[in-house]
Amino acid sequence: MCGVVGYVGDRDCAEVLVDALSKLEYRGYDSAGIAVFENGTIKVDKCKGRLSNLVEKMAQDGKPDGHCGIGHTRWATHGEPSDINSHPHGNKRVTIVHNGIIENYKQLKDFLISEGYSFVSETDTETVAKLLDYYYNGDPFETIAKVIAEIKGSYALGIMFRDFPDRIFAVRKDSPLIVGVGEHENFLASDVPAIIHYTRDFYLLEQNEIAIVTKENVKIYDVHKNEIHKELNTADWDVDAAEKGGYEHFMLKEIHEQPTAVKTTITPRITNHMPDFSSEKITAEELKNYNNIFIVACGTAMHAGMVGKYVIEKLARKSVTVDMASEFRYRNPIINENDLMIVISQSGETADTKAAMQIAKNVGATTLAVVNVKGSSIAREADKVIYTHAGPEISVASTKAYMVQISVMYLLAFEIAYANGKITREQCEEYTRNLEEMPDIIEEAILLNEKCQFVASKLINADSLLYIGRGLDYALSMEGSLKLKEISYIHSESYAAGELKHGTISLITDEMPVIAVATQQDLVEKTISNIKEVKARGAMVILICAQEVEIEDSVADEIIRLPQAEQLLMPMVAAVPLQLVAYYTSVLKGNDVDKPRNLAKSVTVE
Ligand code: GLU
Repeated sequence: MCGVVGYVGDRDCAEVLVDALSKLEYRGYDSAGIAVFENGTIKVDKCKGRLSNLVEKMAQDGKPDGHCGIGHTRWATHGEPSDINSHPHGNKRVTIVHNGIIENYKQLKDFLISEGYSFVSETDTETVAKLLDYYYNGDPFETIAKVIAEIKGSYALGIMFRDFPDRIFAVRKDSPLIVGVGEHENFLASDVPAIIHYTRDFYLLEQNEIAIVTKENVKIYDVHKNEIHKELNTADWDVDAAEKGGYEHFMLKEIHEQPTAVKTTITPRITNHMPDFSSEKITAEELKNYNNIFIVACGTAMHAGMVGKYVIEKLARKSVTVDMASEFRYRNPIINENDLMIVISQSGETADTKAAMQIAKNVGATTLAVVNVKGSSIAREADKVIYTHAGPEISVASTKAYMVQISVMYLLAFEIAYANGKITREQCEEYTRNLEEMPDIIEEAILLNEKCQFVASKLINADSLLYIGRGLDYALSMEGSLKLKEISYIHSESYAAGELKHGTISLITDEMPVIAVATQQDLVEKTISNIKEVKARGAMVILICAQEVEIEDSVADEIIRLPQAEQLLMPMVAAVPLQLVAYYTSVLKGNDVDKPRNLAKSVTVE
């Protein structure tokens, strides 16, 4: 996590750095800081808390006046969020910002202490700053090369040397970093939204490439100082997409963007109402031949994978295992070269997912990544990539990225089922047409806004709640529950409705609301029975169900009826009120919706 930025050019550097950091706050907001060359010295301003605290501080104390510098927004891994632990770190000679974890920092720190260095912070980062100082011999490049040969772990580093006030240096391994290329100005950033106001052109730094960035030049070298001539990438994102555009929160804006995001994601992969992954070089023939399919991801992306499992197994009759990446990587999984691993990640930088994918690659399994960020590590390392086109997702709680991930899972399921001869061409066309209708139906589901706000008002005083469902509705409940707890801070669990009576039902009282999801016609009666069981024990029940489900109103305290859609695709419809209920509960509780406590987006640490 953490956001790293850098700037060299004619503009007011402090202003550019703060603006760029404001686009990266989703990566962490424990503290913020900048370092700018001012009259040949490195001036550092930093403090605990949001970027706005730093802005206030600089408004009072004066901001550094210069044109070259680096900045950071932190998600603490080593040392509590505090002024002292805030980045930048270093001394008058070398100052750095860092995203990542230095695994051998303890040994390095002990060594540096024995060499007479003293440390002010508890961070792993300060060790790198001091090690750079230790090796500094007047040649920054050589110094950086020596240091990266000694440090272990992950890093995206922005570095300033006092003796070189016209330039910044950068190097990365396992944490993302790009170099933005403008006219008479250049940039560093962890992610594209930080620089898109200034330039769309950027280089992606590869593992251990070292960049030297001045106002007029970007030079990139390997560790042996061979210059690398890289291809310039161009970001095709809309500038407005990284702004709130009149919505109170990014999360609400992103919920509203879902119809467009789905349309943009599926349209290029459909030809004549049939799935078509030819641009991704994925053929029906190869999809037929895999033995087992593994879907591996974390958090919300894993929940999208759960939907994928149900749909692939139902339509294609292929066995699918869904795993949390953090578990998969350490459980010695049985996977081989005849298997397919689908990894799902919005950022394409999720550390656990990346490591799990490496395990599949090591045994020769085919890896297919469903990723939103172009050129991200997972996208580059996977054998095949399907890019979702959600645009930048800024809200920490994912909504539109989840929606587009599911839409890709559906298309893949249709293709795999058809390739395996489990559905006819007509059936495949029918399913695909239904999917093509989803953007309009999601639009209708967003109209449930007010009802969801009302439901949220009934939940805000709960200490704990339960989401239940069966089959696809269980997969949805998992996502609904995660969404609610991460932004409302109300404890919540999802449970397979049929499992309740094996233990969890003992928790039910009139103080434990239950949100039941029942969109699957063949299971609805079973779920209704479970609803009656919890209702009989005092629970307030909110039911989210398909339009056509026949039930008496008394079954639940509140019923959210969904717009009509093909049953198999109902998760795409039901996800919307689940997101909106979570959103309004958070708003009504006065929480910071887009930046929930303790969380950050793009989890680049294990
Ligand atoms: N390890 C560094 C710190 O705690 C950077 C954290 C990160 O990149 O998330 O300050």
